Parts: sequence; structure tokens; C-alpha cells
Amino acid sequence: QGKTINIFSIASGHLYERFLKIMILSVLKNTNRPVKFWFIKNYLSPQFKDVIPHMAQEYNFEYELITYKWPTWLHKQKEKQRIIWAYKILFLDVIFPLSLEKVIFVDADQIIRTDMGELYDMDIKGRPLAYTPFCDNNREMDGYRFWRQGFWKEHLRGRPYHISALYVVDLVKFRETAAGDNLRVFYETLSKDPNSLSNLDQDLPNYAQHTVPIFSLPQEWLWCESWCGNATKSKAKTIDLCNNPMTKEPKLQGARRIVTEWPDLDLEARKFTAKILGEDVELNEPVAAATDK
Ligand code: UDP
Ligand code: CA
Repeated sequence: QGKTINIFSIASGHLYERFLKIMILSVLKNTNRPVKFWFIKNYLSPQFKDVIPHMAQEYNFEYELITYKWPTWLHKQKEKQRIIWAYKILFLDVIFPLSLEKVIFVDADQIIRTDMGELYDMDIKGRPLAYTPFCDNNREMDGYRFWRQGFWKEHLRGRPYHISALYVVDLVKFRETAAGDNLRVFYETLSKDPNSLSNLDQDLPNYAQHTVPIFSLPQEWLWCESWCGNATKSKAKTIDLCNNPMTKEPKLQGARRIVTEWPDLDLEARKFTAKILGEDVELNEPVAAATDK
């Protein structure tokens, strides 16, 4: 049956928990291998914690809730969204048991269209991290590609700026090369400047890549409409509902418009949740009623 695929994610709030269930279903429907999900416990709702053991049984996966206490000496974050971003990247060496050798982070609002086993087994050439570079084929967005000029252009010295919605962590390599310490040192220095790390979880590993090397994944591993053109959509192995800085379209609306399988997966997850919690499914939930970030 093959080696277990380990995937970790994080979610806070009703909308992202709804997305997370869809992400889980999309992973499972595209692989025959055993899957274990690791969820950062900090902001999960009681409802989600009630439903997830039932989902694990019904869909035959393992899961574990994990957390790590913010170190007293490390610069603190005040906003919830930034705390979440910090947990995506700052404690990878210490938040998982030492026996875990590899893990893939997947954003809660991502939909998987391929066997994640292929990514799990990929040779990332001895680097601790693997991320997909940002697409450059949606020309309309050129004005928003901040990494092509000024500070980032200088700093990157020809390396790509990668998107943080999906990444592989070779935990053995990561621990062996003290990548966690290196990232925390960069974080400690940069976070003192309020203008730095505006996309914390993405800016930090991209900034640190001369010290903590990144393997660049083939482009098809991460497609997101804002940055990638429609010409490459059919090859997408995963789709992230990444924010569009130009249109600022709400994510729920984008999900239905962009991802054909999304409404069915959503309905399946909502029916299952309602059954477990003993509630009715709101079948005709109006899009506009949903809240977004
Ligand atoms: N996230 C969350 N709640 C929030 C914001 C973010 O749980 O209010 C988590 C979630 O896993 C999400 C990830 O952080 O997928 C990254 O945020 P988001 O997808 O909104 O960023 P984008 O891809 O739009 O840049
Ligand atoms: Ca996302």
C-alpha cells in the first residue's frame, strides 16, 4: 500500500475549517496510500474537534493535534493571522515527534487534484524545504510582483520567490542542518522592523534561502488563479484559492467559480458535519452570507 503520506495544516474560524475539510477530502480521493494529517491545535473550534474523529473513521485516515508553546525569548506576534503564519514555519523542528521524517504543509484553502504520494516521494536533492516558485504567466499581475524589483530583487540574487501555500519539509535534513534555529534567528532580527515580513510565512523562508536552501518544485504543483494564467490550469496538481490583490474577490465565491469539483466536495463535507453534530444542512446557503478575511 506504500508509505504513509504525512500532511500538516492549520485553520482558524468557520470558513477555514470548512475549507480544511474539503482539502482533506481532495487529498484522500486522489491517493490509495495511507494518510496521516497533523493539525495545529491552537485555534480549532470545539465543533471541528468533535467532527474530525468521525471523519477519520469514515474516510480511513489518521490524525493528530499538535502544538508548541511560543518560546519566551522569541519576538511575539499579536494578530491572530500572524500567529497562525508563524506556526506554519517557525517550529517545524520541534512541533513534530522525532520519529517523523517528512511532512507536507497544505493550506486549508487548497484543493488537491493528484496523488500526494508523488510529492511525498520526490527527491528534493538534500534540501530541507521544497516550495513552488510564483507563476509568472498571468501578465495582468505584473504590477503586483514585488519580488521583481527593489529589495527582493537584490536579495534573491536570481533565485525564485516561492509561494507558501504548499511545501515539503525533509525533517531529517531540517533538524540536521539546524534550519529551525536559522529561521528563528532571521525571524528575530527581521520581526523587530514592523515593515518586514508582511507575509511572514512566505517572506521568511524566501529571505533565508541562501542559508536554508529551498528546492524549487515544478510549476504545476501549485496553481492559483491570481498569478498563473488559464493556459496552465488544466495541468494543476493543486489549486490554492490565494487572495487576489487586484480584485479582492471573496474566497468562497472564487472557490465555486474556479474549482469545478469544489461544490460537490463542500456539500459532502457539510452533510457529514451536519450528521455528526445532529444539525440540518443549509443546502442553499447564499454566497453573500459567508464571511471572509
Ligand atoms: N489561515 C487560517 N485562518 C485565517 C487565515 C489563514 O486558518 O483567518 C490559515 C489557513 O490554513 C490558510 C493559510 O493560513 O490556508 C494561509 O492563509 P490564506 O490561504 O488566507 O492566504 P492566501 O493563500 O490567500 O495568501
Ligand atoms: Ca491559500
